Amino acid sequence: EEEKRKYVKGKKLGEGTYANVYLGHVRSDPSQLVAIKKIKVQKEYEDGMAPDAVREIKHLQELSHPNIITLHSVFSSKDQNLNLVLEYLPLGDLEMLIRNTESVRYGAADIKAWMGMLTRAIWFCHENFVLHRDIKPNNLLIAADGEVKLADFGLARSFSDPYRPMTSNVITRWYRPPELLFGARHYSGAVDVWSVGTVLAELVLRTPFMAGNTEMHQINLICQAIGTPTEDNWPGVSKLSEYLVGMEAHPVRGRDYFMGMFPTLGPEGVDLLMKTLSLDPKKRITARDMLKHEWWRKEPKPTRKKDLPKKS
Ligand code: ADP
Repeated sequence: EEEKRKYVKGKKLGEGTYANVYLGHVRSDPSQLVAIKKIKVQKEYEDGMAPDAVREIKHLQELSHPNIITLHSVFSSKDQNLNLVLEYLPLGDLEMLIRNTESVRYGAADIKAWMGMLTRAIWFCHENFVLHRDIKPNNLLIAADGEVKLADFGLARSFSDPYRPMTSNVITRWYRPPELLFGARHYSGAVDVWSVGTVLAELVLRTPFMAGNTEMHQINLICQAIGTPTEDNWPGVSKLSEYLVGMEAHPVRGRDYFMGMFPTLGPEGVDLLMKTLSLDPKKRITARDMLKHEWWRKEPKPTRKKDLPKKS
């Protein structure tokens, strides 16, 4: 109740699948704008579950990093709705820039700058034992100074307890790694790294890299684009509960294929991309090692924040 009174809710900014988003300001200082995200009540939360959700999300308030959206406050309203008070970021998201091929032009240096910010964000999450689990261009909001901010921690949760089974039905399908599609319940930061790889591919192609219409279609697209998961390239994969027998057999793609498809990344960029899209999550590069990759130091250098393309 205390927290709720600190803010004044204004006009509706937009509507998402799980939430309505409102403009708001700090009651004691109307110049301080915020976005208030009101999560629609879900059945499971109906009988006083919201306080648990509040507790769960509260620890995200401690994740303070320039590339992670600031969560100012969390409160549940009388109707049990969950309200997140967030940093106000009115300049849209990376998806808008990727899709607007008519008026937004960007190149290899811009992609490197955006990827650097995204990689630092997930590195910071993983260092703090938080998985994001829903990385996609639409969840990468853009600040006035050009900073990219990872948003929508709706699905994020701590992975500090590796024995607590987790649901595998997370991450928007196109960005979902093969271990989740095969029903793995003990997963790691590698799930986010795969999503980051698919975002890198999409930044280059300006269209989603593997846009499956169903989970089955998604698995087939992964087999075609990367290779078919087998015991040879991924020991243990056939024991996952939803592993498929009778997938089309495609050999794992080599460097030459990726170089042909993503020439603007250069050999180092392609090397990093391939390491993020490793089928076996154990062999996938970590966010920490991504930051040590030589690609960042190669020409072209990442564009400075203030020079990055913005929504027109
Ligand atoms: P979705 O992820 O489906 O876009 P969201 O619930 O995240 O849905 O957001 C709905 C809309 O509200 C967004 O499209 C955006 O226009 C707006 N919005 C969300 N978060 C913010 C924010 N922090 N600052 C400004 N506008 C926001």
